[in-house]
Amino acid sequence: MTGERTQESSDPRFLCDAMLGGLARWLRAAGYDAQFEYGIKDRDLVARAQATGRMLLSSDGPMFERNVIKNGELPALYIPQQLGKLDQLRFVLDKLHLPLLSPRCMACGGELRDVPKHRVMGEAPPLAYRNCEHFWRCRNCAKLFWHGTHWQKITTRLHDITAQG
Ligand SMILES: [Zn+2]
Repeated sequence: MTGERTQESSDPRFLCDAMLGGLARWLRAAGYDAQFEYGIKDRDLVARAQATGRMLLSSDGPMFERNVIKNGELPALYIPQQLGKLDQLRFVLDKLHLPLLSPRCMACGGELRDVPKHRVMGEAPPLAYRNCEHFWRCRNCAKLFWHGTHWQKITTRLHDITAQG
């Protein structure tokens, strides 16, 4: 797949604010565990990041006035709001010097594992079953992925943004 390796425990995991759902999905495609939740209160967001050891990503200026962030207790990164989703991803990878990793599930951030092709017969769409050799399943939400045109578009865009830097 895209990256050389899967996420390790030393790689950062992220919690995105409610405005950054798109970024969270792209971080997952780049191989990073990233969560977000619509409508979560700032206070709860900060508490959850602390409780789960995640780095907070936010486009909300006042968030960075909080003491736990100012004193470095909670690692956080300000994401310029005017950037598009892919530029936001590039911004994070550049700032933190992170490589592309093997993708995680874009729906939930779970780890993907290989599934032998014969196991997805009847489950994969017929066209995908005919044309693709590699299938993956999310360990968390069980969503099935395959190396088809949609996936190729995603990996091409990921490599485009990392090649520009
Ligand atoms: Zn999933």
